[in-house]
Amino acid sequence: MARILVLGAGFAGLWAAIGAARQRDELGKSRHDAEILVIDRNPYHNIRVRNYEVDLSEAAIPLAELLDPIDVDHRVAEVSSIEPATQEVIIATSHGQETLHYDRLVLTLGSELVRPAIPGLAANSFDVDTYEAAARLNNHLAALGRQVPSPQRATIVVVGAGFTGIEVATEMPAKCANAGVSDPRIILVDPNPVVGATIGDHGRPVISEALASLAVETRLGVRISAVDARGVTLNSGEFIPAQTVVWCAGMAANPLAATLAGEHDRLGRIDVDSFMRAKGLSNVFAAGDIASCVVDGTHATVMSCQFARPMGRFAGHNVVADLFGQPMLPLVIDWYVTVLDLGGWGALYTVGWDRQVHATGAAAKVTKQTINHKRIYPPRNGSQRALFDAAAPTIQAPPVTRTTSKS
Ligand SMILES: Cc1cc2nc3c(=O)[nH]c(=O)nc-3n(C[C@H](O)[C@H](O)[C@H](O)COP(=O)(O)OP(=O)(O)OC[C@H]3O[C@@H](n4cnc5c(N)ncnc54)[C@H](O)[C@@H]3O)c2cc1C
Repeated sequence: MARILVLGAGFAGLWAAIGAARQRDELGKSRHDAEILVIDRNPYHNIRVRNYEVDLSEAAIPLAELLDPIDVDHRVAEVSSIEPATQEVIIATSHGQETLHYDRLVLTLGSELVRPAIPGLAANSFDVDTYEAAARLNNHLAALGRQVPSPQRATIVVVGAGFTGIEVATEMPAKCANAGVSDPRIILVDPNPVVGATIGDHGRPVISEALASLAVETRLGVRISAVDARGVTLNSGEFIPAQTVVWCAGMAANPLAATLAGEHDRLGRIDVDSFMRAKGLSNVFAAGDIASCVVDGTHATVMSCQFARPMGRFAGHNVVADLFGQPMLPLVIDWYVTVLDLGGWGALYTVGWDRQVHATGAAAKVTKQTINHKRIYPPRNGSQRALFDAAAPTIQAPPVTRTTSKS
């Protein structure tokens, strides 16, 4: 029996596993011909894009619910090393270290928030990178809600005014209200001179309007030089008293990518071809944030679930096709959109690589909520057919929205 090992059960890994099981079934094969084994450090699939939200109750879906109906095995373990020369992966489990052989590997270990060595940052900051971290932030806010009001208690510093930082800052009024933290003061800090430097000129006025309407302050062109339990010191010399600092600045590919041969981009991602085969590595496929793939002849994927999900579906389909000597399918995606949550103000929906504004405010918010709560969810009725249909190696149309309207 052959073994396909899928490392990571995020957007790319989950959909690679289901896509592989689908193609195994299409070829009339079963687990006796090819075992599909998913390894993740958690027993759940995190709807990671929702980690900034107030309500996290549906953001972690048990893997058993999704993988048991389709005969995909899954184990909770930490991947500690990958050995392509011997086709082995070393994992750490609660019982100790184990070596797993593979015939084909699908690398979907995602990305991680980068925390620079700023004094006090690691010990005194929160983030929303993982479900666990997001839940920790919500628990901290709930604990603040039970404390005596003070400026430190009410002040939330969000560091990094990119996509995640903006979503965290604009959701924070609702998070604070939910936690009983009254009159919050929210401050968004970024070393760039503008908010949303990567989002571009078209959408920036929309973001500024939302921040102003939600009374989110900014400190731009400055860096954090130290953090302690009392607050944050900026390199401008300003000290902001704050009991909550949320670090949202900078992502990089999972550090295990750096241990592998082949091309890596500036984010540490592995170069893959249009079939999701890792360049320079035999029998290794990669998808999601750990991989970079040119999808339309010009543009490489960006770290996003928008790309991670189809990359996963195609990697899953192709790894089984490759194992059984069948033709593989190239991934081609000819559209790119971004839908940025702006909390109680609404959202911003842009289209194209130059991010032209398509919809704003309440109309875009409906689209955002449909994406976060429906579009990116796997079927949860335990139906093998529904899971296989959702994992077909096809490209979804862009999310629909109503007209442009302000909130
Ligand atoms: C707050 C937030 C908001 C976001 N909003 C958007 C958005 O609006 N739109 C969008 O397209 N994208 C968004 N993203 C980005 C999106 O979540 C990622 O691009 C996506 O999760 C990538 O999927 P992935 O499967 O590659 O990685 P992940 O989803 O990170 O999955 C990686 C998996 O590997 C596991 N893992 C990692 N290392 C190990 C190890 N050593 N051993 C065992 N298991 C391991 C992890 O537990 C995880 O389950 C957002 C991200 C965040 C954090």
